[in-house]
Amino acid sequence: MPQLGFGVWQVPDDEAAKAVGTALEAGYRSIDTAAIYGNEEGTGKAIASSGIAREDLFVTTKLWNSDQGYDSTLRAFDTSLAKLGLDYVDLYLIHWPLPSRDAYIDTWKAFEKIAGEGRAKAIGVSNFKPEHLQRLLAGSEIPPVINQIELHPQFQQAESRAFHAEHTIATEAWSPLGQGKGLLDDPTLAAVARKHDRTTAQVVLRWHLQVGNVVIPKSVTPSRIRENIDVFGFELDADDLSAISGLDSGNRIGPDPSTFDIV
Ligand code: NAD
Repeated sequence: MPQLGFGVWQVPDDEAAKAVGTALEAGYRSIDTAAIYGNEEGTGKAIASSGIAREDLFVTTKLWNSDQGYDSTLRAFDTSLAKLGLDYVDLYLIHWPLPSRDAYIDTWKAFEKIAGEGRAKAIGVSNFKPEHLQRLLAGSEIPPVINQIELHPQFQQAESRAFHAEHTIATEAWSPLGQGKGLLDDPTLAAVARKHDRTTAQVVLRWHLQVGNVVIPKSVTPSRIRENIDVFGFELDADDLSAISGLDSGNRIGPDPSTFDIV
């Protein structure tokens, strides 16, 4: 899996083809969508018209909450594949654990079947806390390869990252730029950016790469799409990394997975 990919949350279906097309031209090879984003079709169109060989792309989609459960997961997966116009995805994720519904173990059994058939090359989860992962690991034959969670310099998720490392689960950061709001105006990040003659967004993405996160920034602006992948030509030093470590406020932007139960 490429460590840096392109996320398409909140990109309307008719704009997704253009944005994903721009990302593929800029060199991204990993795309992160989800059934609930409503843009699997646009994403699929961009993939089909890109001319890039399927095996050179890494496509992730996610099962929405209302489809949790064994049979409903199998049906929802077929729908996602059809919308994407693909015969397999590289990664399929359970979008949220929904502990109140208590269906993620049954859902995972359907994920294991899909993986066994080779229609998802890998299976993982999103927004799982260590307690949810612990239960999943105990009740599964195939462990999740990755957990996609909210993670950015102001919400660094030390406990989850340590749990993942212990269980060989990759950490993937959603809203890696903190959705752009506030975080990208932080004076500490601005100083590091000046030092390296880079933008604050590039410094944040470089930080993710150096601490070992998979990262999927989103933008629909072509210049920013290109800027966000141009992060392989410089390196943060120990001082920069420790300054960024100090920005963790422990505050989420998004919902808490323990209580989030929207279907
Ligand atoms: P993000 O942190 O990637 O921020 C995106 C926003 O930051 C843009 O809309 C733009 O306003 C700004 N931005 C982007 N590049 C910039 C640049 N170079 N300079 C200045 N501003 C810039 O936020 P996100 O979209 O919430 O997260 C990224 C991806 O993560 C999503 O598209 C989606 O694929 C995934 N995601 C997953 C979940 C989940 O529950 N699994 C939740 C949220 C997001």
